[in-house]
Amino acid sequence: MDYGKYKNARNASWQCILDYKINKLPVIVTQIIAQSDNVKLYKNSQINILKEKDSGMTIFKNKVFNIIYRDSDNSRRCRFTIAHELGHIFLGHLLINTPEYKTFAMREDNESEANVFARDLLAPACVLHELKAFTARDIANLCNISLESASYREQRMRDLEARNAWYLHPLEIEVRKQFDDFIKIKRADK
Ligand SMILES: [Zn+2]
Repeated sequence: MDYGKYKNARNASWQCILDYKINKLPVIVTQIIAQSDNVKLYKNSQINILKEKDSGMTIFKNKVFNIIYRDSDNSRRCRFTIAHELGHIFLGHLLINTPEYKTFAMREDNESEANVFARDLLAPACVLHELKAFTARDIANLCNISLESASYREQRMRDLEARNAWYLHPLEIEVRKQFDDFIKIKRADK
């Protein structure tokens, strides 16, 4: 994935954290949706629309983004699915008409971007850095994400810690400030 797109998704995740006043982990994705007039959430068990290979999708209808997620998946997977769909929405990905509905075009680069958005939203690197949450297990517990997602995050954190270039972007500085109380409480817990 090209770095420009990666930065775009990362910046969007920071902007989302700031706009929705997210100040602790785990991020409650349903609260983001509850605060968004044009996003609604549905369980696939109630409408049974997802194709077998899919864990989530978004249908755009009457100016509303309707996210459908596979609620039979475990809750950590569901959280990632919903965050991924929010990524498509907040990144303004291309919508296309299919015979049945209007939805996001399936493009590999957009899927990667939505995954980066979800990862950075659910497990913000600067907060993990401040709390020294570097192992997959710590990250999974702190962020309420799967051990699989957390192990990718562990690898990424290793790179970021080696680079040691924090707070170069104004949005990251704002995110750090917004999490200040949470970081203090968690540090005192240790
Ligand atoms: Zn997607």
